Amino acid sequence: KSSISHQDSDLHSRGWDDVSVYNAKKKNYAWFQAPDGNWELAKIISVTGTESLIAFSETKVLKVQSDCLLPANPEILDGIDDLIQLSYLSEPSVLYNLQYRYERDMIYSKAGPVLVAINPFKTIPLYGDDYMQAYKRKKIDSPHVYAIADTAIREMIRDEVNQSIVINGESGAGKTETAKIAMQYLAAVRGGSGIEYEILKTNPILEGFGNAKTSRNDNSSRFGKLIEIHFSENGRIAGASIQTFLLEKSRVVQCTEGERSYHSFYQLCAGAPPSLREKLNLKSAHEYKYLQQSNCYTISGVNDAEEFRIVVEALDIVHVSKEDQENVFSMLAAVLWLGNVTFQAVDDNNHVEPMIDEALLTVAKLLGCEAENLQTALSTRKMIIMNENIIKRLNLTQAMDSRDALAKSIYSCLFDWLVEQINKSLSAGKRLSGRSISILDIYGFESFDVNSLEQFCINYANERLQQHFNHHLFKLEQEEYIQDGIDWAKVDFEDNQACLSLFEKKPLGLLSLLDEETTFPNATDMSFANKLKQHLNDNPCFRGERGKAFTVHHYAGEVKYDTTGFLEKNRDLLHSVAIQLLSSCTCKLPQIFASSMLSLTEKPAVGLLNKSGGADSQKLSVTLKFKGQLFQLMQRLGNTRSHFIRCIKPNNSHASGIYDQQLVLQQLKCCGVLEVVRISRSGFPTRMTHQKFARRYGFLLLDHVASQDPLSASVAILQQFNILPEMYQVGYTKLFFRTGQIGKLEDTRNRTL
Ligand code: ADP
Ligand code: MG
Repeated sequence: KSSISHQDSDLHSRGWDDVSVYNAKKKNYAWFQAPDGNWELAKIISVTGTESLIAFSETKVLKVQSDCLLPANPEILDGIDDLIQLSYLSEPSVLYNLQYRYERDMIYSKAGPVLVAINPFKTIPLYGDDYMQAYKRKKIDSPHVYAIADTAIREMIRDEVNQSIVINGESGAGKTETAKIAMQYLAAVRGGSGIEYEILKTNPILEGFGNAKTSRNDNSSRFGKLIEIHFSENGRIAGASIQTFLLEKSRVVQCTEGERSYHSFYQLCAGAPPSLREKLNLKSAHEYKYLQQSNCYTISGVNDAEEFRIVVEALDIVHVSKEDQENVFSMLAAVLWLGNVTFQAVDDNNHVEPMIDEALLTVAKLLGCEAENLQTALSTRKMIIMNENIIKRLNLTQAMDSRDALAKSIYSCLFDWLVEQINKSLSAGKRLSGRSISILDIYGFESFDVNSLEQFCINYANERLQQHFNHHLFKLEQEEYIQDGIDWAKVDFEDNQACLSLFEKKPLGLLSLLDEETTFPNATDMSFANKLKQHLNDNPCFRGERGKAFTVHHYAGEVKYDTTGFLEKNRDLLHSVAIQLLSSCTCKLPQIFASSMLSLTEKPAVGLLNKSGGADSQKLSVTLKFKGQLFQLMQRLGNTRSHFIRCIKPNNSHASGIYDQQLVLQQLKCCGVLEVVRISRSGFPTRMTHQKFARRYGFLLLDHVASQDPLSASVAILQQFNILPEMYQVGYTKLFFRTGQIGKLEDTRNRTL
């Protein structure tokens, strides 16, 4: 056994370097894991037997077992662009390389085909026209979102294949900013018709209505987003369409200390002009109960009034009429005033009714309904028992729930309606080529102290995306090698199919069991948890926990879910009285919302029954709807060539210049970057058909023979340019290259052309 270096011919048949064979005597520096878990670069002073004397942190000296040390890379590799070029591939060397670059504001790095972006938490001078032009003309080749976007454009045009840019990472890692940067690049180099300006202007609208300040991110997207940018025949941007996923509705009616509800509420309160204030009977944000609960009204560095102006301007640009804008703001005000509706007891059976006060009257006026009808909708529930309509009066908790349910429904319908308007505007009368680049900005894997249905859905989505990632990078690659008869030591890759099956298996998977329980009249969160334990305990990805909890073994680690509220959230019922109320409103939007809710109920879906056993309204459950969206998304992505960007948060304090090794390491593991590095390096990532290769480089041959077949021509080219035998493989139809090999040929070609 010997230590591995660039020259070793068997280098690529392995994955991670076999570090146990590290021979400390040969090297001056090594990585040493300090008791705090962080890796330190240590200087080896002397080696005796199995022990080494090392110096680190400038002053500390320690005697350690030599096999605890990991080899450090030569200095010449410090800050190298692509992690797979590191001679020694260990966790500390990957971490160190990223840190080295981060400290020099080189926030982008490659891990083979994947772009790693570390959030700088400050403005860095890597963007704007000059940089865009430089990437477009290929004057710069250091890793960048621009480079990814540029590759997507080129491949879309050259290969006539739709492209996608899949951005992942945890909250606050920089996904949404990265998506915007990619969009800006596409708009700048492929715009022209003016539509690109409209597309960019959707950001303030979507962020205003779908983002909020959380403890992790002052501008956290509370929804997932796929934006598909369409191109015309001549390769210019011609339109776009946006699909959103799982808006976090609960934030409208409750949010925790120090966080905020959706920006739109604060923007309206701070920025509405006097005439609008009067029409909506608008007060300051401090006057609304929904906004009071978290005791946080402002975000440092953000001027909500100014943001309001920007959103209005953006609404103008995407052709939402002034009248519709006023309707939108009426709905926002109605939601805020709903939160201020209070209830009083009306009999001795704990039944309540809303007080007729400013709040109730304002909501009625804003929605365009009678105050009495609103009162009824908030304090009763209609049920069918034995084929008879029964009106049931509500107690205080139930009435408050029905009020909050109405507020949540109005808000999420409003959000969907806005997305629909944007889509209409972005696709109006455009001639399309059928070519597109999609950008996916979706919440990463989440694991909190308490994980509920939201995390359950998000993590399920991430399992699917991870599988797409795996398939894309590893499986397809491997199959291609085998198909082309390439000698390829099979590399095991992480397959998360078992976990996906745990979710999706019918009838005994997590989703099916959840839906079954959701429709079951007497089910409780406890009965749901028990059912899971009863049916799934043998599944290696599942573990029943004490009480109402269960644990899933995800690709990124174990997550314990608390089933409290699962069934209720999954039902997401807006009772028929409330839907009726909305459809009776004289205002435009409530009517539209009601009909969209009714159309949902007509879909052939599971029939949801309310707890009392009577059919109230039928509707797709939250998880079933999400699963449908997710399958559609995966199908769309499956038809594209994907480019992956992994965003990394370097610290939890949103500060620039701080690099928390443990935090970064955990994210690198979660999003598969370490796996990619290991696997990419052991393969032949660049490939080209014999024909294409011969066509592209054949003219460079010194003794050019026109009649040569593509394979012979290819071999001749390889020989003429001295490409080392271990750097390529010749397959039945294609040539396969190690990373970096084609670059040399391209350089020569470009110089010659
Ligand atoms: P995510 O969408 O992953 O939750 P965001 O994209 O909203 O995260 O980023 C969070 C914050 O990090 C942004 O509001 C911004 O302050 C900062 N940030 C992210 N990316 C960059 C970047 N490329 N340059 C400067 N600041 C950034
Ligand atoms: Mg975001």
